Amino acid sequence: MIILKSRDEIETLRKANAIVAEVMQELSGAICSGISTADLEDIANLHISKRGAKAAFPTVPGYKHALCVSINEEVVHGIPSKNRLLEEGDIVSIDCGVIIDGFYGDHAWTFPVGEVSDVAKKLLKTGERSLIDGIEKAVLGNRLYDISAAIEKTARAGGFSVVRDYVGHGIGRSLHEDPQIPNFGEPGTGMKLRAGLVIALEPMLNVGTYEVDVLQDGWTVVTKDRSLSCHFEHSIAITEDGPEILSRI
Ligand code: MG
Ligand code: MG
Repeated sequence: MIILKSRDEIETLRKANAIVAEVMQELSGAICSGISTADLEDIANLHISKRGAKAAFPTVPGYKHALCVSINEEVVHGIPSKNRLLEEGDIVSIDCGVIIDGFYGDHAWTFPVGEVSDVAKKLLKTGERSLIDGIEKAVLGNRLYDISAAIEKTARAGGFSVVRDYVGHGIGRSLHEDPQIPNFGEPGTGMKLRAGLVIALEPMLNVGTYEVDVLQDGWTVVTKDRSLSCHFEHSIAITEDGPEILSRI
């Protein structure tokens, strides 16, 4: 079931997503070689509570943390740990969600740790570009998979594959709502986009195969060939005036 949001509801979603964006900004400033992923979790918890919000991911059954932190070949859902330290040359994907006043925010970004390889640089640039290209298709008159197709096109043009097992989603009073938004698809197909639709777009691009495995911890998703992966996510509102990125400050 698709739930369209009123102006007031979008205002609250704007507030929730601005908090996630602020937390992400704090985290981006903390990223350095030697910091543990549990330290990043602590920073996130501090800034989430300072803003009167709550971490969203603990509402997912079985998950206890505010962040997912996924390094290098880890695609998504990496679990923060004090034993996992960032190293020079890594790429690190941080996914953060919050809830405030009954509405969710969801945002993810992949950062370089110091100087990274040329292929890592290209992956990050292409991943971010694919997200922006998807957002640009989120306009009235288009259909849902116009967004998906734009993401896929940019990813492939950069020489990368898109993960198929995990997708974007609607967001509102639940972290994950309909519709699902794959990062691949046929242009001109899918539901017609409507004003009041609020969605989290989240391309995951891999250097090698699109296929993934889940590690024994039951959460961490890695590329099957252990090639590098990136993850960029914005929550956006589709309005009469075009797409508005909510998870940006
Ligand atoms: Mg997310
Ligand atoms: Mg999401």
